[in-house]
Amino acid sequence: MRKTEKQPLPLPFPHAKIETFQANLLAWFASSHRKMPWRDKPSLYATVISEFMLQQTQFETARPYFERWITRWPDFASLAAATETEVVKSWEGLGYYNRARNLHKLATRIASMPAPPRTTTDWLSLPGVGNYTAAAITSIAFNEPAAVVDGNVIRVLARLTAQTHEFKDTTTAAKHLAPLAQKLLTRSTPGTHNQAMMELGALVCLRQKPRCLLCPVSQFCAATATDNPSNIPRFKPRPIKKLTQKRIWLLHNDKLLLHRHSPNARRLRNLYELPPAEHLLPNPAPETIIARKRRAISNQQIEETIYLATWTPPLETHIRTTPSLLWVPQPYQPTPTQKRPPPKMI
Ligand code: SF4
Repeated sequence: MRKTEKQPLPLPFPHAKIETFQANLLAWFASSHRKMPWRDKPSLYATVISEFMLQQTQFETARPYFERWITRWPDFASLAAATETEVVKSWEGLGYYNRARNLHKLATRIASMPAPPRTTTDWLSLPGVGNYTAAAITSIAFNEPAAVVDGNVIRVLARLTAQTHEFKDTTTAAKHLAPLAQKLLTRSTPGTHNQAMMELGALVCLRQKPRCLLCPVSQFCAATATDNPSNIPRFKPRPIKKLTQKRIWLLHNDKLLLHRHSPNARRLRNLYELPPAEHLLPNPAPETIIARKRRAISNQQIEETIYLATWTPPLETHIRTTPSLLWVPQPYQPTPTQKRPPPKMI
């Protein structure tokens, strides 16, 4: 860590004005917050599920998953009684599947306790719970005075203090800004304060073109005196990695060939996807390309190309001797002319 990141941040305004800052923030939140299903009927369980889902996922994407989840597994006990396969299947589409596995393990641990833990220290010992999640859960569910520092809060705090430092990444920025977040916390209502800070970052203090004229705390913000608050915070650029992946689409006897990741895989264990081409067709013919898909994960740009493969006896021999390759009943009915995978499959 650089020397500048170790120095505690001074308050961006006189201590006597903290209460006004908090009052403005909370009044704005009371009138302007978005309706969210986990806010309608708050409970520890709803808070935990929503916080796990929102770790890497936008609110609008997470909402229908949350609603289905709560209907199917309304509490820790019912979630603990589900199998990991069922839980991961319900997470399908949200990505970062370790969140689902950790949530299942966490439910199993809590269901076996006489009562759920109440402090951030105790929550930090549970699967999948880091500093942010522990602070969010305990402040919202138990009024624990623990400030959250997620990407939205980093942006607000960095702008309030007009940070000029170039942070290595969000983890470094969060560590640097955490003491300031704690100083500004409304200790009587820490859960509401934390949600207000995150909502301010999501709705007003936008990454590009922050709405400073509408901001309830603009009078405390040092970034408004700079040329462009959008330039804060600054992060070291990460080199973009370009990856290509060839996959095959092979149907035979109404079954689709899939590749199952190893039970020891770090991210995708036991999950299925179209087999990498190198398993079967080291040099697929370009004219058999049936789909292309581009996606970005973190600093990686991935281009996947799907090739149509034709069943042959030698391929079948290879498939039979490769345990990670298996035929599964295909989840849609093709027409005689349908050779392409439907978009949902890729
Ligand atoms: S005044 Fe502008 S830059 Fe400062 S916290 Fe508010 S929205 Fe963000």
